[in-house]
Amino acid sequence: AVMPDRTNTSRDHAKRYVRHFLADFAKLDQEYPRTYPRMIVRGEGAYVIDEEGRRILDAGSHLGACQIGHGHPEVADRIHQQVRNIEFIALDAGISHVYAAALGERLAKMVLCDDPVFSFTNSGSESNELAFKIARQYHRRRGQPGRVKIFSRNGSYHGSTLATSAATGAAPFKEGFGPLPEGFIQGAQPSPGRCGHCGFNDACSLACLDDFERLIMAEGSETVAAVIAEPIAIPQAVKVPPPDYFVRLRKFCDDHGILLIIDEVVCGFGRTGRMFGAEHFGVHGDIVTFAKGLTSGYVPMGAVAVARHVEEVFKNAPLLHLNTYAGHPVACAAAMAVLDIMERERLVLHSARMEPILRRELQRLQNAVARVRYLSVIGLLSSVIVDISDRPDPDAVIRRVRNIAYDNGLLARVARDGALLSVHFYPPLVVAEQDIVAGVRALEIALRMI
Ligand code: PLP
Repeated sequence: AVMPDRTNTSRDHAKRYVRHFLADFAKLDQEYPRTYPRMIVRGEGAYVIDEEGRRILDAGSHLGACQIGHGHPEVADRIHQQVRNIEFIALDAGISHVYAAALGERLAKMVLCDDPVFSFTNSGSESNELAFKIARQYHRRRGQPGRVKIFSRNGSYHGSTLATSAATGAAPFKEGFGPLPEGFIQGAQPSPGRCGHCGFNDACSLACLDDFERLIMAEGSETVAAVIAEPIAIPQAVKVPPPDYFVRLRKFCDDHGILLIIDEVVCGFGRTGRMFGAEHFGVHGDIVTFAKGLTSGYVPMGAVAVARHVEEVFKNAPLLHLNTYAGHPVACAAAMAVLDIMERERLVLHSARMEPILRRELQRLQNAVARVRYLSVIGLLSSVIVDISDRPDPDAVIRRVRNIAYDNGLLARVARDGALLSVHFYPPLVVAEQDIVAGVRALEIALRMI
């Protein structure tokens, strides 16, 4: 294998990266290029190893994709074997392949969607984009072409394309890219503990859902194609809705002929201690989208599950939606290998078992660091909210927290949420108790030095 020269500490690779890539967040760092970007060369389980040989706990799982851990030899072997069998077949004009069939059959037994059929994609954004197209076509083909609007929730993230940006509620991801496609509207979502509707406490009256439903009725429910929601939203903070939220949202959608799209892109494949996030609430989606954990990031892949009653309308005239790499055999092979490993290593159960340990450690952190205001944990998905309102330069605080955490062996995901700092801690599902303990200690060191 071609490995970068490990003895090279002049940051040449980092300089080369910055020279050849469109500006990203790392370039904003005043410390660039002394420390940023960090150049990773290898991965091992829950850890990544940088060009200087440091082992760093991957506490963000690379945007939540890495579930089974880095560098699993079995996935590598099966990808290798797949390329030797057939590297690529496009699912087009009467051609398919056995690997897509096997994956579809397997997923159908797992996903919370009634008797589903699948369409494969390459990312979460493509999955959601396709879900919107399916929802609009569904109503059009049923003689309701006026049902076009897609409702989503404030503070959500659904992707990077224009339509998924329009559906995204978190403002920074959509500002300045207009005009965005029409018909995308956002309303309230529950943020237990720090919710505008219920105040800074844990009791929830679902007043946000009252508002959301009122907003849809005011727009005219007969103009609405679908509602899209993440079972547990991630941006800003991990937001676990109250138990009856989704049951009521599901009923509201049914009562008004609106499709419910469940976005499992982050929650899917064990992240929250269940195979899918919606399992916590027992709610089925008419359409369910996923990506990331499906292949644990080994190669890109996404999928859209469509309930049989929605698929009915496409029986006589298929949906015209071409996507060259949809159902790429190498991605299918990676997904099958990842699912085998998740089952064999019982990673979903492990994620659930690690939840109390992660909560215990984060509670200890909260007791030790006065700035920590609120924490939220479900499975191996968690966030802590830190008050930095007394600090004049929040971006400098973010850089500092990241740097100190890294120097203490933790790749942390730190973002700004107004005058608050949100730190997400969601390591690969293979993480062990001692990794969590060490990782949260590194975070504590960083937060003490704000
Ligand atoms: N939906 C959710 C909930 C996400 O968190 C993301 C990505 O972070 C996406 C959709 C978009 O997925 P991708 O980045 O694979 O396009």
